[in-house]
Amino acid sequence: MFPMAISGHWKRNDYFLGGGRKPSGPKSNNMSNNSAPSPSNSSKIDCLFQQSVDSIVNIVPEKNEEVKKYIQDYQIKFVINDFPGFQFTANTKNQEISISRHSLEIIWVHSYYYWVVYQEARMAQLAGKRHLNLNDSESGKKAIELMSWLDKYSQSKWTLGWPDNLPQPSLSPKIFSDEHVANELMLVSVAFCLHHELNHIIRQHGVTRNNSLSRREEKEADIDAVQYILTGATEPDIYQKRMLGIAISMLFLTSLGIQSGRFDDTSHPKAITRLFDCVDSATLDDNHLIFAFCANTLKMYMDTHGVTIESTEDADKTIKDLFHEYLVEISRQVQ
Ligand SMILES: [Zn+2]
Repeated sequence: MFPMAISGHWKRNDYFLGGGRKPSGPKSNNMSNNSAPSPSNSSKIDCLFQQSVDSIVNIVPEKNEEVKKYIQDYQIKFVINDFPGFQFTANTKNQEISISRHSLEIIWVHSYYYWVVYQEARMAQLAGKRHLNLNDSESGKKAIELMSWLDKYSQSKWTLGWPDNLPQPSLSPKIFSDEHVANELMLVSVAFCLHHELNHIIRQHGVTRNNSLSRREEKEADIDAVQYILTGATEPDIYQKRMLGIAISMLFLTSLGIQSGRFDDTSHPKAITRLFDCVDSATLDDNHLIFAFCANTLKMYMDTHGVTIESTEDADKTIKDLFHEYLVEISRQVQ
């Protein structure tokens, strides 16, 4: 099926990144137990606050009671704050897990975007095309507009409102609409981030200045979260949905590296390594949809940001091979 050339992608992207194990910033809304959120200003994402916090339990209905017990035993509190960018943190001293509201917006928009691009690429491929221009379809155009708005929104220091005419989160979107899929994927993605943070607390990972220790702990929190979320998913559809959600956060983080032209190896492993580790720690068929989804998303960023790859035609090649090839090329060309 692959590779496909993809053009029309919105290029600029500039988010403030935060994360790790430290207390969060000011202006936070305590979301412990069942308390209703009381945001300091409003965003279209606010309708999904409660579901976002609840996603840590709802992502694994088969372990529902177990997760609730962890939350109770460790006295976990959830907080949504106004950190100006993408940030999930765990404070291992007071057991507080903080989520920035903009993380939720960013994940929703990327879930929507990646999903639409993937659908468009699949349709183009079925029609025998070798090239996809996102501007050629209404849904592609709309998705680009949404990404472009997100970019302006971050540039405006998060003051710009969510336009009414663009796709947006709502509590009850039309079933099977792109908005519905975006809601679902975003909640899985958030649940994965929350399980990652929960692991830091359960394992008592402290704040450390030792980057190599910190990277080991980050990897541990990632892999534990992936395993925890996937092991009970016996139905292929459920497994796929959970895996997509996991991949979306990692693809987003990887996209920041591709767009900025470098991958930083700091307290966290490089985003591209985390993407590889998370996807590869799942047991998947070599032609599983998740590899196509990841390969497609990576190819879109590669095509837009000048990461080139030699022709990869080979009948025996699996989609997993292709995904790995892209990862290798990106690692080689984006240091
Ligand atoms: Zn972490």
